[in-house]
Amino acid sequence: MSTRRWAATVAAAVLTAGLITHPGPSAAAPPDTDSPAIELAAGQTALIRFRLPDEAAFRDLVTSGADIAARPRTTPGQVMADVVVSADELAALRARGATALRVIPSGAATTRLAPQTRAAADTLTFLQAYWWTTGGRTFLQTQVATTATDDPDVEITVTWTTADGTTGTYSLFRFEDSGEYQYHVALPQPLPAQPVQVTAASSLGGRSRAITPQLWPGATPPPLPSGYQKDFIDAYMSPTDINARIRRLARQHPDLVDVINLPNRTQGYRRTATAYLGDPAAAAVVVESVKFGDQGMNGVQVRSVDPGRPNRPLSATYRDRVLTVSLATDAAGKVISTTDDVAAFLTARYPQRFRAFVEDGSAGLPMPVAGPVTLDDGLDGTEVPKRPWTVQALRIGKVRDGSKIGVLAYSQEHAREWATPLVTLEFAERLLANYATDAATRELVDEVDVFVIPTVNPDGANYSFHDFNFQRKNLVNHCTGAARDPRYQDTWGVDVNRNYAVGSLFDGYVGASTNCLSGVYAGTGELSEAESRNVVALAEAHPNIKYSMNVHSYGGYFMWSPGAYKAEGRITLPRPSIDEQKYFLDSARRIVGAIATERGTVTWPSYTGPVADVLYSAAGNSADHLYYDLGITAWNFEVGNDRWNEATQEWEGVGFQPPFDEAHAESQEYASGLVELLRVARDRAAGQG
Ligand SMILES: [Zn+2]
Repeated sequence: MSTRRWAATVAAAVLTAGLITHPGPSAAAPPDTDSPAIELAAGQTALIRFRLPDEAAFRDLVTSGADIAARPRTTPGQVMADVVVSADELAALRARGATALRVIPSGAATTRLAPQTRAAADTLTFLQAYWWTTGGRTFLQTQVATTATDDPDVEITVTWTTADGTTGTYSLFRFEDSGEYQYHVALPQPLPAQPVQVTAASSLGGRSRAITPQLWPGATPPPLPSGYQKDFIDAYMSPTDINARIRRLARQHPDLVDVINLPNRTQGYRRTATAYLGDPAAAAVVVESVKFGDQGMNGVQVRSVDPGRPNRPLSATYRDRVLTVSLATDAAGKVISTTDDVAAFLTARYPQRFRAFVEDGSAGLPMPVAGPVTLDDGLDGTEVPKRPWTVQALRIGKVRDGSKIGVLAYSQEHAREWATPLVTLEFAERLLANYATDAATRELVDEVDVFVIPTVNPDGANYSFHDFNFQRKNLVNHCTGAARDPRYQDTWGVDVNRNYAVGSLFDGYVGASTNCLSGVYAGTGELSEAESRNVVALAEAHPNIKYSMNVHSYGGYFMWSPGAYKAEGRITLPRPSIDEQKYFLDSARRIVGAIATERGTVTWPSYTGPVADVLYSAAGNSADHLYYDLGITAWNFEVGNDRWNEATQEWEGVGFQPPFDEAHAESQEYASGLVELLRVARDRAAGQG
């Protein structure tokens, strides 16, 4: 399939993400009021930025397994969340006091709460004070902790001073997580020049020491030589495109590349075939094939008939791909079968071929004479092979015998994050294309054993490309009973990045769900899914792997463990040692510096740190598994940083499937970050890290 087609697909996807059914005053509505024009029809889904009433509401969202895409801190004093919602979920969130601000992508709101003062003294400490310059604009970001941790109303103001004596102030907002005070923070603030001093003052009378802000990230990678080749990405890529790219790279560079077939084949882009027998708005039974639709079950017909004679039992025949259900009658010849009768009968009569259940709302109703209806799996990607998928990894290096330090980069655990395989493939291409001509690249490829899994979740990715662009999970449907109703087909599947075995839901950690319809469904058990087992299998099979990067989108984060905590007391997985935390931060600054070289994108210091602190608790994520169980220095990217809009003076989010130009830019900058990760690994192997 032409890769160019994806550009059109993306444009359509972005448009359908709009989903604003009637244009109204919303576009001009004040940013802190609900936009009533944001409405979803039944069956529609959108990524919407919400303002929540309080931190407890965010906590409830996490606990309930909501599909939280990001947690923007774009509005001082307000709790925001970007959430993928259906029409029902949108209504439920509003009923719980959430305000639907806008459909992503779009600008961010800024509203400040009036400061309140109290009489009591506190002590203030700067946790972070960093500045940087990008695109001719200087920014300052600060985090301050107050000792008045329990006072929700304490207001902290930061005053900055530049070398020529210019000063200014801005307010911080209180950041709580899981009900516990963390610190006060603000978005990066535009400044006229480099700040030379910052101080903080609180409404309780506390004052901080004067601090000299540090340059962030304060690290610059070595310059690229002239003739360095990059930009190998010209469109979004489906799993089929990605496989073709893997094959080409192996063909072009046989001395430097192995292709590894990961051991656990996925289910494939497949689904059982279903149909409603009857009218789901009145009375219906869902009939489902036991095998997948592509295994001869698509097109099978089902009907229910009145036998036209009295005292007939409920019976059925299956002949010539037509399932005929003959309903029971009474002595007067009246049909007496119920929906429950028919569902139970079919499941018992054809255990190898069909199962049936009562449509939600049709329980105990008379079974209608209906059909014929046609079973179908509903999958629209007609060109996608309907068979289990072999997930592949590229192994790149001059010495691939396990004697060199290994680095693993893996992407697209989440199907809808279309920019992420572009990052890892661009990275792989750069290593191979420049090996012959660039001595620095050659040194890295000679000294490091690189593993790349461009798409961990190809089945979900196929579904995201062809059927439902918001698909996050894989395609394995573990639901039972009425949750298998095809109306839920876009919410089935397991969240691969909640299915790992450390700090999992099953261990009592927060941020995953037991509900098979949840966006963060953890699966039936730890490592129940082929996709997660593949990542672990690759890492376990190659104990020389000492670093990993789990590439997700979006939001612009650089994160490490702990990535999960238990709700009660917010007890995280064990913290890395002080020395290790310093190493993580120092390495992160190098990699953030490399990302910034492409177009000036600076990952914020407040978004650089442990997952559980800067984003949310993600029970059962892969990086925690690799770090705690396998001793790998396991990091996470969320590519797709917010962009500064000079005209509006606001930061704006980019979303999962931005216009291709943005995704392309993300691939370039984060590939540079991965190359720097190789330098970090090489330095450790050489005893310099
Ligand atoms: Zn993700």
